Amino acid sequence: MSGPAPALADALARARRHLARFRDGTVPHHIAGEAAESESGLTFETLDPATNERLATVAAGGAAEIDRAARAAQGAFRAWRDVPGARRRAILHAVADAIVARADEIALVESTDTGQPIRYMAKAALRGAENFRFYADRAPEAGNGLALPDEGHINYTIRQPIGPVGVITPWNTPFMLSTWKIAPALAAGCTVVHKPAEWSPLSAVLLTEIMDGVIRAHGLPAGVVNLVHGAGETAGRALTEHPAIRAVAFVGETTTGSHIMRQGAETLKRVHFELGGKNPVIVFEDADLDRALDAVLFMIYSLNGERCTSSSRALVQRSIHDAFAARAAERVARIRVGHPLDPATEIGPLIHPRHADKVLSYAGLAAAEGARVAAGGGRALEGAGNYVAPTLYVDARTGMRIAQEEIFGPVLTMIPFEDEADAVRIANDVRYGLAGYLWTRDVGRAHRVARDLEAGMIWVNSENVRHLPTPFGGMKHSGIGRDGGDHSFDFYMETKNVAVAYDTHAVPRIGA
Ligand code: NAD
Repeated sequence: MSGPAPALADALARARRHLARFRDGTVPHHIAGEAAESESGLTFETLDPATNERLATVAAGGAAEIDRAARAAQGAFRAWRDVPGARRRAILHAVADAIVARADEIALVESTDTGQPIRYMAKAALRGAENFRFYADRAPEAGNGLALPDEGHINYTIRQPIGPVGVITPWNTPFMLSTWKIAPALAAGCTVVHKPAEWSPLSAVLLTEIMDGVIRAHGLPAGVVNLVHGAGETAGRALTEHPAIRAVAFVGETTTGSHIMRQGAETLKRVHFELGGKNPVIVFEDADLDRALDAVLFMIYSLNGERCTSSSRALVQRSIHDAFAARAAERVARIRVGHPLDPATEIGPLIHPRHADKVLSYAGLAAAEGARVAAGGGRALEGAGNYVAPTLYVDARTGMRIAQEEIFGPVLTMIPFEDEADAVRIANDVRYGLAGYLWTRDVGRAHRVARDLEAGMIWVNSENVRHLPTPFGGMKHSGIGRDGGDHSFDFYMETKNVAVAYDTHAVPRIGA
């Protein structure tokens, strides 16, 4: 029997070395600069999605650990808040440098813990470092506001960090997403308690270790960044309810967002939500169909389809629909499913057996609703991993569940449309509104459809190419608030207005 290909064998060996530290004992929390166990002694396991064998046993935190972490973040807040901008900038660049220095380790741990192909995860650490650099450079000016003079007063605004914040992240691309939240929080001057997802908690350990190491090497107190593992209903819930935590940045499912809003009501939490999506990609008959096809396939079948901005609905104009669907099906059938650490792999195993079962359950639904399977539709590869074949459903209609629900796997639903109005109607006929993609060479139509789509982000003749200063976020059930550029500072900071009189206006007199 032949073993794995040399590139995979090499990656497996390097991954094994990096994961060895997690194998024995319990992966602890990181609170006030110290490794911490759970008072309850409870633990949970994170599995390797390629085999469903245990990767690590992790401490399961609850209200007690969240309380310690929140107090630590509160205790460190003044010291971190008062770090001058230039120094904060230098510290955050040093975090980016440290991430880059450990990029290979981060990529291998992330890929093994999530099942995401290494071809994408190899860049995840570098993108995380870029997030730190971007906000490092903005840190010195984060507090700057506006000058708003009127006749009798000079008004000016300043921004000040809101205080300790909670960051709650999902399992799909945890390292990149965590940096996307934590970098602006730190640049703003906030301290952080991070609760990562239970199904892929390991890269958060590396991130906290890196950040805390750099911050404390600069002479700052412990507690600026804290990490508490655990279930959403216990650790996550306690974080959203803790009175010392001033705001919660959450990325995850729409229903969880609703829970967090309720949980945070008592303590009037400021919330920022990045939630689910069922994003349309609209292909008009006049589009560059070769580029459109590449983008359609990339935006649903990369990152295992476990991506909030995936184009999970392809709306294709009827005149070109059948030919476009046939070309898509041919390509989908050739997508390489394999071990996540194999550089040739395009789709790896899904995160967890439960999630794979959920994704596969839509095959039965699609058949019952009258859609046709043009590719995939079942499991892929033999063995124990959560491998799902890239799937294409055609002849779908907008009312079907495969056209309405976020499946969050390598599953594309293709729906024909008649004309521009029909395309916009179908595109908007979902509860979500995160991203929209459209392909046309007609400039006027591009602007009209971009205006009419109910989504926070529109790409015209492009896949999801991010530019960090631009706003990121969704409408409707896809979220509340925007990240990116200055928008993140608006969330992590309070805007204060100061009105100073020129001593010229008439002060009203009573009792004179
Ligand atoms: P999830 O909502 O199940 O879990 C996300 C996080 O919330 C986890 O850390 C979980 O432990 C925690 N959590 C669960 N219940 C909680 C509660 N009651 N209180 C506090 N915290 C709680 O989501 P998931 O399955 O991990 O991730 C997939 C989802 O994330 C998809 O819907 C996807 O679209 C979404 N997502 C959105 C974006 C975006 O930018 N819009 C990005 C990535 C993922």
